[in-house]
Amino acid sequence: MRECDVLIVGAGPAGLSVASALSDKTSCIIVHQDAEIGKPVRSSGGSFLRDAKTLSVPEKYYQVIDKLYFYSDHAEAKFDIRTDKMVIFDITGLYQYLASLSERKNRELLLATKFLNTVKQSDGSYLSTVRSKISGEETIRSTFIIDASGWHCAVVHALGLLAKPERLGIGIEYEFIQEDYPKNRAVLFVGSPVLAGYGWVFPTHYNRVRLGVGVIKPDRDDNPRVVMNRLLDSGFLDRMGVRVPEEYEVNSGIVPTIAFDRKLIFDNVIRVGDAANCATPIAGEGIRIAIEQGRLLGAALSKTIAQGNPCHLYAFEKAYGSKYARDYKIGFWANQRITNYGPEDWDKSVNRIGKFSESQVTELLRNRFDFRNLFRTALLHLKRKLQGM
Ligand SMILES: Cc1cc2nc3c(=O)[nH]c(=O)nc-3n(C[C@H](O)[C@H](O)[C@H](O)COP(=O)(O)OP(=O)(O)OC[C@H]3O[C@@H](n4cnc5c(N)ncnc54)[C@H](O)[C@@H]3O)c2cc1C
Repeated sequence: MRECDVLIVGAGPAGLSVASALSDKTSCIIVHQDAEIGKPVRSSGGSFLRDAKTLSVPEKYYQVIDKLYFYSDHAEAKFDIRTDKMVIFDITGLYQYLASLSERKNRELLLATKFLNTVKQSDGSYLSTVRSKISGEETIRSTFIIDASGWHCAVVHALGLLAKPERLGIGIEYEFIQEDYPKNRAVLFVGSPVLAGYGWVFPTHYNRVRLGVGVIKPDRDDNPRVVMNRLLDSGFLDRMGVRVPEEYEVNSGIVPTIAFDRKLIFDNVIRVGDAANCATPIAGEGIRIAIEQGRLLGAALSKTIAQGNPCHLYAFEKAYGSKYARDYKIGFWANQRITNYGPEDWDKSVNRIGKFSESQVTELLRNRFDFRNLFRTALLHLKRKLQGM
């Protein structure tokens, strides 16, 4: 039987970041059900330059975006972003880099190995069963388990601590080479071809473009593939300057879209990343948050193990709630409202966004609602209502 201080389930950005921030003395095993890190791609990689720099992500793993366009059936809004520029991550490159950050530590990475279940022992440790595609079933004894399994919530679900998320964003993406697509321009689009959610065009590394659509289940019945086909037959691609060639790769992924819940710690089981619903409700953006929270958790965990005092973990949980609870509640409220929008609502929204300042747009995409911005938006709304009377 293998033994370690910390068993991490899932080697996405959250799990890998926990591992990289553990002290050298803390032993850890990461189990990852996929055969490779960062493959298949299950995320479109949009984020912000400021955060990429704060998190020390090397420049070769992102494309900088300073033009952001919004399209609906009959409206468009275009922004030159000067201050809070965006980035599109090279997902496979970034995740492999994150894995390299814990390579020299006291950690083992078991690829193609799936966590199946765990049982708490009388001494407080956990005995987990995992299944490797190569060596079959084995058990791992650990003091802590980190649930970084994304929307699967594999550990907290196996222990009956939480149900699987009942509301999910399901995305499909075509990734292809288009050399003449501007490398600094990202597009978000809404309206009739993607009524079930929204779509995006993100330029990424090696002249590649990601064209994606997302659908929220169970709010909408639509199959993302059907939505994608509808998009390909619409005039949207011409408007956005996108040409889908004969050959393309298909990426797909799932992200939880449920109400914010600040509880992360369940005894010695702690959830992080998408397993803790970290992606923003407005744009489904979770990579930077998974990395940041993963690193904070790794540091708190090492201190807890070294000092035998869980106060560091509880401080981590409290800080997470204080940082995100209010904005995520507002964002989630908006997210639920917009899933019922029709084409005319979207035209109005895009026209409204067109009146925003650059910082209001980026704050909206960041899912940050400071009171001044909320007040200004409400005032704008009221003014337009009065003008229409
Ligand atoms: C279509 C789509 C588009 C997105 N676009 C963006 C974007 O533009 N920008 C952004 O920042 N975020 C985006 N996101 C969200 C972002 O991908 C997530 O927030 C982020 O990946 C969360 O990281 P994580 O490590 O928590 O989970 P994940 O990245 O999901 O990693 C968890 C890993 O755990 C593994 N795993 C699951 N169960 C088990 C098990 N039982 N045993 C072993 N391993 C297991 C999985 O295979 C998975 O690789 C998008 C998501 C989707 C679905």
